[in-house]
Amino acid sequence: MPAPRPRALSPDVSAAEDVEPVVVAPEVVAPEVVAPEVVEPVVAWFARARRDLPWRAADRTAWGVLVSEVMLQQTPVARVEPVWRDWMARWPTPRAFAAAPVADVLRAWGRLGYPRRALRLHECARALVERHGGTVPDDESALRALPGIGQYTAAAVRAFAFGRRSVVVDTNVRRVLARVLGGVALPAPSPTAAEHAIAVGVVPDDDDAAATWAAASMELGALVCTARAPRCGDCPVRDACAWRAAGYPADEHSARRTSQAWHGTDRQCRGRIMAALRAAHAPVDRADLDGTGASPAQVERCLAGLVADGLVVRVGTVSDGAGLFTLPTG
Ligand code: SF4
Repeated sequence: MPAPRPRALSPDVSAAEDVEPVVVAPEVVAPEVVAPEVVEPVVAWFARARRDLPWRAADRTAWGVLVSEVMLQQTPVARVEPVWRDWMARWPTPRAFAAAPVADVLRAWGRLGYPRRALRLHECARALVERHGGTVPDDESALRALPGIGQYTAAAVRAFAFGRRSVVVDTNVRRVLARVLGGVALPAPSPTAAEHAIAVGVVPDDDDAAATWAAASMELGALVCTARAPRCGDCPVRDACAWRAAGYPADEHSARRTSQAWHGTDRQCRGRIMAALRAAHAPVDRADLDGTGASPAQVERCLAGLVADGLVVRVGTVSDGAGLFTLPTG
């Protein structure tokens, strides 16, 4: 039977924003009881079905893994991969990246979205040079002390770069655990402590096994147990899945889900302003940014926000008093 299509909470991407770990329904099942019958089939499936992604290659570097995790926050793999390849060819080390001009960084970030991530990654590289001699530490507290590195990213870097046991819980993992162990369509809108406890309970004790489980569970959520159209017939844990066994009950939190509107939003307007400035080789007149399709008031508001975020600078004034804008220098 094809699975129903629950309303998605968030985009089905490989990694969410640096979200706090979440919770499912702890009363439904004790994770330590079912962990082997979930972990082993998922890991075996991963060995057959895993995507050959460059940040998983045998010659990957910790820096490459860190960059991939930052890029994958809220951006799908297909859009990240070409940018990541160019990025690593150009800036293969934190030290190389730390020396790059900010404008080059933002141009290279291109259309990945949420460009504040690029600025934070730049700050992170500079901190790696200053504090760690240009290397990525494997210690969780040292990782979390870096700019832009939260609980999720630190856990992912430890697992995927260093093969350490850590609890890696992104949007995909949350959804898989909610369905298999919690019997619900989607996890609660906000992560909970109970959800985190379940995720911890499932992680194998061994470093290598834990790191493989982290990658495998994320991959299952990205490729099979997707938000909108789970392919239960291809799923290695279909016989253990509580949501499937319960007959796919509807998402009980659907009324609390926030939609991801795009057209006409400030986010779209900011993206168009950034695209115009990335393409320009000289400061851009404020009046020329009205061609981004938004109202003058919305352009004004978004420009102010971009300046406040450090993504845009005002470098002058034209005759009618309007500003000239460009990407940051330095
Ligand atoms: S059977 Fe597998 S794909 Fe289907 S909902 Fe359960 S975990 Fe997801």
